[in-house]
This record gives sequence, C-alpha cells and structure tokens, in this order.
Amino acid sequence: MSSWYETTLTGWGRTGLSTSEVNDLHSVIELLAMFDTRPQVLARGLGRSYGDAALNTGRAIFRTAGLERAVEFDHDTGHFTCEAGLSLADLIRIVLPAGWFLPVTPGTRQVTVGGCVAADVHGKNHLNSGTISRHVLWLDLLTAGGEIIRCSAEENSDLFHATTGGMGLTGVILRVAMRLRKAETSFMKVNRLRTANLAETMNALTIADEIWESSVAWIDGLSYGQELGRGEVILGHHAKQEDLTFKLSVEPHRMPDESRLSIPFDFPLNVLRQSWLRVFNSHRFKRITTGESMEDIWQFHYPLDALNGWNRLYGPLGFHQYQFVIPDQGAESFMGYALKRLQNVQESPVLVVLKRFGAGAGWLSFPIPGWTMAVDLPYSPRLFDVLEKLDKRVVTLGGRVYLAKDERVLPKHFREMYPDIERWLEVKRNVDPTCRFTSDLSRRLLIDQEIMGSRP
Ligand SMILES: Cc1cc2nc3c(=O)[nH]c(=O)nc-3n(C[C@H](O)[C@H](O)[C@H](O)COP(=O)(O)OP(=O)(O)OC[C@H]3O[C@@H](n4cnc5c(N)ncnc54)[C@H](O)[C@@H]3O)c2cc1C
Repeated sequence: MSSWYETTLTGWGRTGLSTSEVNDLHSVIELLAMFDTRPQVLARGLGRSYGDAALNTGRAIFRTAGLERAVEFDHDTGHFTCEAGLSLADLIRIVLPAGWFLPVTPGTRQVTVGGCVAADVHGKNHLNSGTISRHVLWLDLLTAGGEIIRCSAEENSDLFHATTGGMGLTGVILRVAMRLRKAETSFMKVNRLRTANLAETMNALTIADEIWESSVAWIDGLSYGQELGRGEVILGHHAKQEDLTFKLSVEPHRMPDESRLSIPFDFPLNVLRQSWLRVFNSHRFKRITTGESMEDIWQFHYPLDALNGWNRLYGPLGFHQYQFVIPDQGAESFMGYALKRLQNVQESPVLVVLKRFGAGAGWLSFPIPGWTMAVDLPYSPRLFDVLEKLDKRVVTLGGRVYLAKDERVLPKHFREMYPDIERWLEVKRNVDPTCRFTSDLSRRLLIDQEIMGSRP
C-alpha cells in the first residue's frame, strides 16, 4: 500500500513552488482505501498543465501515473479502455502497431489519459475532430461521496459535460473508454508553407483547413512591421499505404525512434534571451522549405518531446504560456495587437503557435469557434499586468483563456470567459457540496468560495 509523503511540486511553467501531501497510486483499490484519509484532495497526472490546475498547496494530491493498465482493446472497432493514469506515449505503443491512433492528441505524449479528459484537450485537428471528449465512450468517476459513477454523453450526461474540461474538480477519473481512429500507417503526409505576414498566415490556414486534417502555424514572435506574424504553416494528414515509398511500406506501422535528448539540470538563468532568439527565428524562417514530405507521427505531433525537460531552459523564474481563443470577427487585428503588446514585455515571446478552432464541447472546455494563439513567455515582473490587460480585450471579443495553461486569470474575467459556469457549478454543488476536490486553480477562481457560500 502506498503511503503519504510531503513534497514540492510545480506546474510545467515552473513559476512557483507548491508543497502538498502526495500519494503515488498503484491501483484503484488503493485509492478507495486511501480516499477518506484526507479531507481535501486532487488528482494529478503527469503535471503537464502549465499553471496551477494540478497543484493543491497545503492539501493532498493523488498522483495517478501508476494507474496505467490497458483494460480492453478491440482491434476491429478501435474501442480502447484503460485506467486514467496511462500515458499517451504508452497508449500509442499499444495501439499504433495494430493500425490505430488517438482521435485527438495534444502537442505532447507525456500526459495521462485522465489529464487529457479533465482538460478536454484539443489537437491540430480540432476543426475536424473536436476535443477528446467527443471520442470518449464513457468514463468512470470516483465522486466526493465515494461512489463510482459511469458517465457519457448519454448516461449521467451533466456529470460528463462537467467532468470533461472540469480540471479534476468533479472527482477522480478512474477509467476511460474511447474510440480510436484508424491509422493505415505510422507516418504523416506533411505540407509546409512559408508565409510573409499575419494576413498570409491566417489566410493559408483558412484555405488549407478545407483540405488537410491537421493544421497549425509557427509564428516568428519577434517579427515586426510588414513582417509581423510571418511564419510557417504546417499541414498534415495520416499517410495511407499508397503514399509510402517502397522502403517505408515494408513496415508501415513502424514505431518511431523514441530516443530523446535531456536537459540534465535546472539552468541558473533564462537562456532563451531575445538576442539569441532573433538569430534562431530568422535562421528557422529562412530554412523553411515549402512543399510536401513524409514525417513520422512523433515528428509531426510531438516535436517538443524530442528534448526532455525543455522547461528547465527558462531558468529559476520559469515561464508562462498565454493561450487564448477569440471568435473570427476581428481576429486578425487582435492577434497582431497581442503580438506587438507581448513583444514589449521585458522578455519576448519565445514560441508562438496559431491555429483555428471548430465547435466547442464541455462546459469548461476551452475551444470555441475562432482562432487560438499560444505564446510561451519567460516570467518577468511586468508580465501578468500586461496579460490582465489582454484578458480584458479577450473578454470583450467573446473569447477565453485556457485553464490548463493558466495561473493568473481573475475570477471576474473567468466568469465572463466561461458563460456555462453556472451549469457547471450546479453539478459541482450536487456531487461535491463541501469541495472535497479542490485545487490552487479552483480557490484562486473563487469556485470553492462560491460553492461553500451557497450551502444552506
Ligand atoms: C509541450 C506541451 C504541449 C501541449 N499541447 C497541448 C495541446 O496541443 N492541446 C491541449 O489541449 N493541451 C496541450 N497541453 C496541455 C496538456 O495537454 C494538459 O495540461 C493536460 O491536462 C496534461 O495532462 P497531465 O496528465 O499532465 O495532467 P496534469 O497536468 O497532472 O493535470 C491537469 C488537470 O487534470 C486533472 N487530472 C489529472 N488526472 C486526473 C484524473 N485521473 N481524474 C481527474 N482529474 C485529473 C488535474 O487535477 C488537473 O486539473 C500541452 C502541454 C505541454 C507541456
């Protein structure tokens, strides 16, 4: 039986330290035995949420990565059931050789299935495939009363919509059954285009989205003037057998090379300085070769996973990822404004990614139809003031910030960004009236206060 111990945790952005009592689970039985020993708890997967969603300072955390059993896999239908702590990396190792892949995947495979469902993650194919919850057949949830409730879009649907995107605040997801997508090969047919400015980047994405299954743009965050928003549009779909060269077709479901470089220590200062980035971005931009190629699934979906622990490059102050989405109306002008505004913060945008979203899903799910931009920014004292001002504009435009990346949005902005919050709170009041499930995020956004304050 695993035991409790005190330890220090951070979000992926490493902007602050948080001390909690942690229990590394190995089985659901262990979780049930331990559940009542702590009054306020939170599930944590592999800690890839950037901010405070997976932190529970001064309280208890169940780490789920040991709940990693694959339970059932139907090779004909692609229906796959597993425990919630299974990582996407391990899941892919099981299903890809049999010709199946994830229906939706975030930009890293070092995350758990439970963490992905709790954040209702999106991938580069959001416009066509939605978020992960669209592909979940059902999930089993351990609720505050100690009951295990199965829910889906049809069964206990309110609880399902509150849990997908609910950031662990309705209970612990124990098991997930999902529908995989067919993958004739483990390769992606990729098309890359160089774009000269923001209008061209957005235009290329809009046209390409009609043809390609997945799309995303890398933006040179330091470009300015006529070249503001220049970058690379990256388009892809799963390659068919007939797309492969003879050499690749010999082993169409070959597992990509798993070797990764590692950052061996915490850097004493942020090494991603503006002067260096300017050279890097300019070099990268010039080297973009427009045209089609074949890439393995790792290269296309998880380029950042090639460098283990890359978040340590930002030094002891860490970094923040600002990801927002806004509707189509006025998107180009606001994206340009946001880029310019962020270039004026002490340290400039390191990585900027732009893409289009289709229809939304769960009540606290992030995507809404429109455009999303994600910007990695080294932490600096002025940063959060600038972001708060941008939040105000995002709210005015009818947009929102992604909770899985957040650690600073104000409660009043959160309520405006997520208009379904009342429906969500109603479910939370029913299943967890005393806020047994709580997090730094839920307390910062005054969710706990709202629930507890409304108790008779
Ligand atoms: C390099 C990188 C790229 C990314 N790209 C994308 C992307 O393209 N799209 C996207 O949507 N996201 C993306 N993300 C964010 C990431 O997918 C989410 O933050 C995801 O939730 C992380 O999963 P995790 O297992 O690490 O969960 P954690 O970070 O540990 O937890 C995240 C949330 O899930 C809850 N949770 C975890 N496990 C459970 C469980 N079993 N039951 C209930 N609640 C649970 C936690 O309480 C917390 O609120 C990216 C992150 C990184 C680092």
